[in-house]
Amino acid sequence: ERDFAFATQNGIAIRMVVKSASGAYDDVVAPWIEAYGDHGVTVNSGEFSGLAYKEAVDAIAAALEQRGLGRKRVQFRLRDWGISRQRYWGCPIPLIHCESCGEVPVPDSQLPVVLPEDLVPDGSGNPLAKTASFRDCACPSCGRPARRETDTMDTFVDSSWYFLRYACADNGAAMVDERVKYWLPVDQYIGGIEHAILHLLYSRFWTKVMRDLKLVGIGEPFGNLLTQGMVLNHIYWQQPAEGRRVYFNPNDVDVEDGAGGAKRYVATRDDGSTLEVVYEGLGTMSKSKNNGVDPQGLVEKYGADTARLFMMFTAPPEQSLEWSDEGVQGSFRFIRRLWKAVYDHVAAGPAPQLDLATLSPAQKALRRAAHQTLAKVTDDIGRRRTFNTAIAAVMELLNAIGRFEDGSPQGRAVVQEAFEIATITLSPIVPHVCHALWASLGHAGALIDQRWPQPDPAALAQDAVTMVVQVNGKLRGQISVPVDAAEETIRAAALAEESVQRFVAGATPRKVVIVPRKLVNVVV
Ligand code: ZN
Repeated sequence: ERDFAFATQNGIAIRMVVKSASGAYDDVVAPWIEAYGDHGVTVNSGEFSGLAYKEAVDAIAAALEQRGLGRKRVQFRLRDWGISRQRYWGCPIPLIHCESCGEVPVPDSQLPVVLPEDLVPDGSGNPLAKTASFRDCACPSCGRPARRETDTMDTFVDSSWYFLRYACADNGAAMVDERVKYWLPVDQYIGGIEHAILHLLYSRFWTKVMRDLKLVGIGEPFGNLLTQGMVLNHIYWQQPAEGRRVYFNPNDVDVEDGAGGAKRYVATRDDGSTLEVVYEGLGTMSKSKNNGVDPQGLVEKYGADTARLFMMFTAPPEQSLEWSDEGVQGSFRFIRRLWKAVYDHVAAGPAPQLDLATLSPAQKALRRAAHQTLAKVTDDIGRRRTFNTAIAAVMELLNAIGRFEDGSPQGRAVVQEAFEIATITLSPIVPHVCHALWASLGHAGALIDQRWPQPDPAALAQDAVTMVVQVNGKLRGQISVPVDAAEETIRAAALAEESVQRFVAGATPRKVVIVPRKLVNVVV
């Protein structure tokens, strides 16, 4: 991909050398739009043409070696990792030092080595080294007095494989068992960017060691990594005459209009007194800057669903999120709007069964919007992990339901289905409210037991499309035409439109420009 970008930028000709296995790119001709990033069969590669990925790598490596130009080698970039630490907290290293036998592993029958719990650290050095009951032992090999290893393992050791234990947590006799085969690798790893370097590297290394020891069958512990962004909030401080700067929580600061259009920032102390403070700007939430937000306060005021919706909606997960009280209130209002809309619908009584054969164009359009939303949310949550756009899609669906003014039995059936889709698709993010709405929509079972639905292809198929009509570039009306309508048909429909006729005023159009599925411009 980098070579592709480089060649494209510098106008270097690109020749296809890998042909997709599926043949999907066979008919594509230059200029190429993107690099083909999957494995396939080599083409245009001289003696190496017609080879599968691995064969091609081996053949090229062998040819290079034969010609004395290079050799194949696996390169590791993990630096030496000293895992021992001279401190109490950490897993004991199960080794015993004997003057005659050297380093002797603790026999399996004596595992696990457990840390003493009656030890009182005195603040200097490793307390284990001063605890005779832990340190002194007999050599498992010769029985003579020996010394137990008192260094413990770095905490990164535990974090490198703890997730394997989730698959077999009740096994007290082995590190892992065959259940790991079923559950691992982890489908989705979510963590801050700080995890993307050390922890990811260590756990990958550890997994490969366990693979080489035949303890697990996988070489990679995680299928996918998502590094989440930070949460930012405003920072306010005041510098006393002496001593350190004092930071004030944004919750305790009011923004007022000061002289000359400037803002004044006024903090309220615990005792009710106020003082003017300095606004530093936005920064990562931290204790030292006193700009954290306790989610408990939000949960008490608006409910957990609002707190969740706000955080998921405000930014894509990998970007930083700016805390905003207005944003929280906006999320709360959306949930209330959804709640009211569902209850208004339910109040009119149960909706009848949907009859797909007799839908009006408007009913078809709402059904299409609902199933498009379902398709989009499924992809946004399941593949793209962009929860914000998934939520936005449900918000749009709610707007579409609001514009749909068809109280007929069939219209109410379409609305019922649209609300069911909105409730299911929003439920991973707003679980409590959606659980209640699902029940109110007439379902006996819990929403959490419901299967994620599939979009109905028939609903997604579009048979008519709305095109705007302009006269001399000005919007004058719109027409609805079949999706596959010929230009003749579109032209005739546009010219027959009453509002268009008024502006054409009997003149013969000089030109009619058609942008398929979007726009018709009549030039007179
Ligand atoms: Zn010994």
